[in-house]
Amino acid sequence: MEFQYDLFVIGGGSGGVRAARVAAGEAGAKVALAEEDRYGGTCVIRGCVPKKLMVYASEFPDIFQMARGFGWDVKDPEFNWEFFRDKMHGELDRLEGIYRKLLKNSNVDAFDARATVVDPHTVELSTGQRVTAKTILLAMGGRPSLPNVPGIEHAITSNEIFYLDPLPKSILIVGGGYIASEFAGIMNGMGVKTTQMYRGDQILRGFDLEARTIIADQMRANGVNLLVNTDVAEISLLENGQRSVRCKDGQEMTFDAVMYATGRVANTADMGLAEVGVELADNGDVVVDAFSQTTVPSIYAVGDITGRAALTPVAIREGMAFVETVFKDNPTAPDHDLIPTAIFTQPEFGTIGLSEEDAAKQEPVEIYSTSFKSVRPGFGDLDHPIFMKLIVSKATRTVLGCHIIGYGAGEMIQLAGIAVKMGATKEDFDRTVAVHPTAAEELVTMRHPVRSA
Ligand code: NDP
Repeated sequence: MEFQYDLFVIGGGSGGVRAARVAAGEAGAKVALAEEDRYGGTCVIRGCVPKKLMVYASEFPDIFQMARGFGWDVKDPEFNWEFFRDKMHGELDRLEGIYRKLLKNSNVDAFDARATVVDPHTVELSTGQRVTAKTILLAMGGRPSLPNVPGIEHAITSNEIFYLDPLPKSILIVGGGYIASEFAGIMNGMGVKTTQMYRGDQILRGFDLEARTIIADQMRANGVNLLVNTDVAEISLLENGQRSVRCKDGQEMTFDAVMYATGRVANTADMGLAEVGVELADNGDVVVDAFSQTTVPSIYAVGDITGRAALTPVAIREGMAFVETVFKDNPTAPDHDLIPTAIFTQPEFGTIGLSEEDAAKQEPVEIYSTSFKSVRPGFGDLDHPIFMKLIVSKATRTVLGCHIIGYGAGEMIQLAGIAVKMGATKEDFDRTVAVHPTAAEELVTMRHPVRSA
């Protein structure tokens, strides 16, 4: 049977765009892509990129304080949210333009429309047009999921936080994951009176407990009112526009804004997927095999909709592995083992591998850790220590986990991640000469374990 395209990609985010470009550009496939919203997806339009710009903007109070410690006379700096916000959106427009241009230059036909699946080789666009393709790639990403709390319509999500008008004087952020914890630091740094509310014992569940505790303590010291073991029972809108929040323990509080960051859900509803035989998990994720193939052989899926690891670089790798498998005759399973990641909390957290708790369950381990004041914040009169921790197998001496908290942690973990991914031992770290004077040098100078676990 003749198809109009070799590949039809649904979704113009990180995974979809990369797969489309590489399939068309490197493998010479005839490719089309449909995007119903803006090109760039969550990462570029309402995620990583604007979030990181907001992290930078929110770090300036610390930078001004450090500058004073170094002898600079910094007088009453003020933050102009509207200026920053509008400039940030200008930057996002520029990046979206680049994404469009990349597709065009790779000869990908881009449709500004919603696409749904009609049969294993046909999609229908919201314009009514039907298009056929030998292979369909699902890359629709995810969106914030909101719990069923009375008054939830008075809350915003990470989709709206980039458009605040005006910047609220106070905010409640509900959740204890990546997004809630990052935005608690951002809002606090921008001068917003910030409360973060998490239903469990400690934020950032799943990561190393000692690291989570250090981050939470530092966030509190920075001014975030971090409440744990607390959850919202009801939100109501007051006449003055504020939100009154009643907690399950009976506490009542008032905020200018409430943001929910309680997880994300795959954009798989009303796509025609189940109807054509694509199996979905109970939470709506697309079920795929190791090669990103769904239960319909001609339909593949990459990125957040597959629920493997909701991270842009992972979606990109899944997209490239898909192209290798389907268009280059080189079956390639994306590798989800030992993914380094940075959480842009304040303090910043870079992490790869096992937490102390998980490692100790697996095998006997030695823990090496250090906490110290690095020169710049130390001399600059900021109490922001750096923390580093290596989790080492007693039997093989392999570094099973590396956790770094503080300035530059995200940059450091990318490089430490190479060593951990290669299976470096503690002795490999030790025989690497320290780069002096840096904070990172402490990674190779931790001589004695602080404990066994
Ligand atoms: P997460 O899954 O990381 O966290 C969700 C949080 O919401 C958890 O603390 C969870 O609590 C809580 N929660 C869930 N349901 C409810 C509920 N009904 N009521 C109250 N609290 C609830 O999701 P995020 O939305 O923060 O982030 C989604 C993903 O996006 C991340 O997992 C990550 O992969 C990615 N991301 C990556 C970033 C980075 O690389 N820096 C930045 C931002 C996002 P509990 O722990 O009890 O389940």
